[in-house]
Amino acid sequence: MSEFIHPNLTQPQRRGLMFVLSSPSGAGKTTMSRKLLEDDDHITLSVSATTRAPRAGEIDGRDYHFVDNARFDAMVANGELLEWAHVFGNRYGTPRAAVEATLHAGRDVLFDIDWQGTQQLQQTEAGGDLVRVFILPPNMAELERRLRSRATDSEDVVAGRMARAATEISHWGEYDYILVNDDAAQCLAEIRAILAAERLRRFRQLGLAAFVRDMLGVAG
Ligand code: 5GP
Repeated sequence: MSEFIHPNLTQPQRRGLMFVLSSPSGAGKTTMSRKLLEDDDHITLSVSATTRAPRAGEIDGRDYHFVDNARFDAMVANGELLEWAHVFGNRYGTPRAAVEATLHAGRDVLFDIDWQGTQQLQQTEAGGDLVRVFILPPNMAELERRLRSRATDSEDVVAGRMARAATEISHWGEYDYILVNDDAAQCLAEIRAILAAERLRRFRQLGLAAFVRDMLGVAG
């Protein structure tokens, strides 16, 4: 992808941004975030902690930090989580330390979190670094079809997720960008375009004043 940091500037040149992708489950968010991470070296996934059990194929530390209730309680009590929420009867939260280290290094962080977590991040000091993207399914029937074809969840889990989907979708107005995922390739291209544009925002390019001063040859 195109280089958005000018090579002449010294590190850190850019303020890292917090890129949130939310959607009802089944709208394609996990696939999108995986693809985004694959070919963009400047963004790192925030690996959430959760009390839910791992699904087949999920790896501890890569997909989630799978923790028990006691450990999650301790993380909350110690202020180790930037945000946390109940989702589908389990708890999910964003470990603070990894996010802060990544942002401090001038890198971006990708969050696959729900509307509750997004609201909480908005209220933190880092709210100004937040870019919120919501992915809508093309329609509810297609969402249900995608949830069923995934087949990793039982029938009542699917029904529960359909009910939750309506709640999640009702929060679309709290996001900066709204995408409809009826074509995965186009949706991914739109996500990349949003990220590219947000990285170029003037206030995120910390070394810009010095760079332009040098370019114009103005002293001091
Ligand atoms: P799943 O169990 O399907 O992996 O995730 C269920 C929901 O929890 C998804 O909507 C996902 O975005 C959300 N989620 C995952 N991690 C976090 C987190 O750290 N915080 C919050 N608030 N939601 C999360």
